[in-house]
This record gives sequence, structure tokens and C-alpha cells, in this order.
Amino acid sequence: MTSGLRTPSERICERCGRIEEWDDDAGRWQLAVNDEGEPHTVGSPYCIHEWDINGTFVPFDDKSDAAEA
Ligand SMILES: [Zn+2]
Repeated sequence: MTSGLRTPSERICERCGRIEEWDDDAGRWQLAVNDEGEPHTVGSPYCIHEWDINGTFVPFDDKSDAAEA
């Protein structure tokens, strides 16, 4: 794991502005919320999110590889 290492834990959709935060406990991205537990920016549920991540974390690396069976 990456304990003790500060990795990018937030991502923002360049299309709809949705903000998500990485939840270490859940092991997945969660909608970012403020201290009141309200979402910062929900964005669009129909958006094909284009995440702006300043790091090396790439969840999907098949953009140029059309793997159709
Ligand atoms: Zn989006």
C-alpha cells in the first residue's frame, strides 16, 4: 500500500465539475463533501467523466486499445 505517502486523493471532472475524493477505507472514489456532509459539486450523472488527476494514478488505460470481443 501507500501508507505514509501523500498521493493525489482528489479528482475533478473537466466536463461537469464533479469532485470526488479517494476513500481509503472504502477503497474507492466517493463524492467529495464539505464539513456539513454536503457535496461540493455533484456534476452530471450522465457525464462521461473526464478526470483531471495530477498524478500517475490511471484507473483505465485502454483508450487507444479497442478491446472488443
Ligand atoms: Zn463529469
